[in-house]
Amino acid sequence: MAQTVPRMNVTFLQNVERMVDRAVAYLDIPLGMQQEIKACNSTIKVQFPAQLDNGQWRIFTGYRATHSDHRLPVKGGIRYAPSVTHDEVEALASLMTYKCALVNVPFGGSKGGLQINPRDYSAEELERITRRFARELINKGYISPGENVPAPDMGTGEREMAWIADTYRQLHPNDINYLGAVTGKPVETGGIRGRTEATGRGVEYVIQEFFRHPDDMDDIDFTGSIAGKRIIIQGLGNVGYHAAKFLHEEDDARITCIIERDGAILNENGLPVEEVRQWINENGGVKDFPNAEYYANGTDALEFDCDILIPAALESQITHTNAPNIKARLIVEAANGPVTFSAASILREKGILVLPDFFVNAGGVTVSYFEWIKNISHIRFGRMQRRLDEYRSEATVLAIEELTGKKVSDKLRKDIIHSSDELSMVRSGLDDTMREAYIEIKKAKQKYKIDDWRTAALVVSLEKIAFTHSRMGM
Ligand code: GLU
Repeated sequence: MAQTVPRMNVTFLQNVERMVDRAVAYLDIPLGMQQEIKACNSTIKVQFPAQLDNGQWRIFTGYRATHSDHRLPVKGGIRYAPSVTHDEVEALASLMTYKCALVNVPFGGSKGGLQINPRDYSAEELERITRRFARELINKGYISPGENVPAPDMGTGEREMAWIADTYRQLHPNDINYLGAVTGKPVETGGIRGRTEATGRGVEYVIQEFFRHPDDMDDIDFTGSIAGKRIIIQGLGNVGYHAAKFLHEEDDARITCIIERDGAILNENGLPVEEVRQWINENGGVKDFPNAEYYANGTDALEFDCDILIPAALESQITHTNAPNIKARLIVEAANGPVTFSAASILREKGILVLPDFFVNAGGVTVSYFEWIKNISHIRFGRMQRRLDEYRSEATVLAIEELTGKKVSDKLRKDIIHSSDELSMVRSGLDDTMREAYIEIKKAKQKYKIDDWRTAALVVSLEKIAFTHSRMGM
């Protein structure tokens, strides 16, 4: 199988638009409003200099796109990758709009990107580049707590978000809400517990919810539970790593194959995710990982036998070329846009169920929303009611003991009086969000007799966005 797959001149953005057109056909949205919803409002391209460690200056190119500001602020990550283009940020920004609407996060969609391979630069260089990029975007109105709030994406993390927050604060010293200008910050500087794991955790919650629906499992001849299911995961970055780790450690799934930049490793008995991650950190790839077969051509492994395939890397990985050979019964899109429009129809015909990106990876923005609320409300979750909850549950335990005349066991007492800390609140809010979205999509699928989950999910999002537009006027 060829490693590089022809894109048939269909861009990422066109792929997204085709998917939207397919969903729009189920709804009665006036043409003008359809066009308004689909169009990307504005995209800025900035080119700016930054100094390298050797004293020389280099020009960097970055973008930020606002797809829809039917709700404010608009929200979406900033990615650092050499492949960043105008088309890509617009496609990703539009996915953010549909993502936020689907999971009832009251934001519009945005996305940014810098054409850079972060591995080629030192931490000091990255700090200078990031602060300068942030300044460009802040000065041009593309970052602020009330209008446009970035977050981490591929190639960025809490370190970059802390630099952006600090740059914003320096430029707006009087803005009391400066912490809300960016999410995904370190916990010590206004972040929220559970944000780093959030997208991967959300992927796990989606799969857990799927296994609570025997009728959906029947559609792809699945039985039993997640335990023992064979999973192939592409990409062990922040999202893929956390998804694989939780599915392996908490749900007993077998991660049989991991695909990385330098190839794929396979062990039908299951790979130890934590050790593989450690190996990648130390050796720069998966090659030579002990007790596993190595395949230099990683993309071939997408076609290996498994139950669940989780693409958690780049867009356009499953195309019309390799879609006919996919063996998984369930594809869970942790990355944005891993399945092209033409591949999607091939998979549909093959009876492969695809849970779509803007649903599956919505955990990140959901927890970003919690972080933003924490920042603008200036209070930590649980501060007001945590002890009150404890006093109440303590009283309940005492009442039970008094009424029954028996002592409640220590374990039960601990479980009942368990205080709701920030992390458990974030996780339960995330779980609830993913489960609710699943049910909403399922209902739309049944109501409109739609045969795929992506179209049904888009129908849910489009209905909400169209409703907001009709209330607001265009
Ligand atoms: N970059 C993530 C995404 O694509 C997170 C966005 C956010 O938290 O705003 O969903």
